[in-house]
Amino acid sequence: MLTPSNIRFDRSKQQYFYHPSDRLVSDYQLRKIHYKAILATSQWSDRLVDSLQSKDITFSDFQLQVATQLKNLKVASLELSKGGKSNTFALDYLGQANQLRQIDYPALKKLFLEIKEGKHSAKMVKSRLRNFWKSSRQAFESGIKSRAELRGHDFAIRILAIADHCEDCVTFAKLGIQPIYRLPLPTEQCRCSFNCRCSYYTGSYKSLSDRFHG
Ligand SMILES: [Zn+2]
Ligand SMILES: [Zn+2]
Repeated sequence: MLTPSNIRFDRSKQQYFYHPSDRLVSDYQLRKIHYKAILATSQWSDRLVDSLQSKDITFSDFQLQVATQLKNLKVASLELSKGGKSNTFALDYLGQANQLRQIDYPALKKLFLEIKEGKHSAKMVKSRLRNFWKSSRQAFESGIKSRAELRGHDFAIRILAIADHCEDCVTFAKLGIQPIYRLPLPTEQCRCSFNCRCSYYTGSYKSLSDRFHG
């Protein structure tokens, strides 16, 4: 599904590349790769729910597959935006593991219990699972931010997606180029949360202004 080992961040060139072809990957393409991974995982989990319904898999198998996929997707999302395994450090993994243990797994456990009690239709279960996959955006964006710091980028700009944005996103986009610490990441502090499709670019003030205001 998501294979971050195909992507590496070149520290001297300060860019992402496909490995081993060495084709340049723009930040926009990187975001698209991640978005596609969320879609692919959603399609996979829809089929998994169908398999559970038709009793092709057991409930414990279902739980294990969902929990494993959530962990894999989050780790892969982080590795993707950090620029491959070799650029992802123990502290990054630790932060991710804490997030899973403190927030994601308890939320999953609650959902599993509700499914077991028959509280949700198959359609509802599918949509709840999709939200878990979307939450991997947070792992992806946090990698983008720490990568920006390593690149020496001091400024950031939020660009709205063509559709699907809340008023918060509009407000952040209207701010234009901002010091990086002042501009929330997409998915942060906005009502559309993990559904946020905004793009976020980092750079020097000049590079962003040439690119977006020029
Ligand atoms: Zn929003
Ligand atoms: Zn947004």
